[in-house]
Amino acid sequence: MEAFNANNLQRCYCNEVVGLTTAWTPKNPGRRFFGCRFYGKPGACRFFKWYDEEIPERSKEVINGLLRVLFG
Ligand SMILES: [Zn+2]
Repeated sequence: MEAFNANNLQRCYCNEVVGLTTAWTPKNPGRRFFGCRFYGKPGACRFFKWYDEEIPERSKEVINGLLRVLFG
C-alpha cells in the first residue's frame, strides 16, 4: 500500500512538490520516478529521484517484449 502524506512530499530544487512519473525507456520500462513538475520546460531544475526499485533484468525483457508487441 502506497501512502502519501503532506509531511513526506518530495520537493524539487524549485521548492515545488514533485510529480510521480513513469519512465518508458528500454532500460527502465514502467519504473516510476519523482521529477520536477516543470521538467522539459525552460527554467526547470534537474531534480530526479527513483521511486521504484530497479527493475530486474528478466522483468525488463518481458516488459520490453510486450511493448514491442503492443506498439511495434
Ligand atoms: Zn524543480
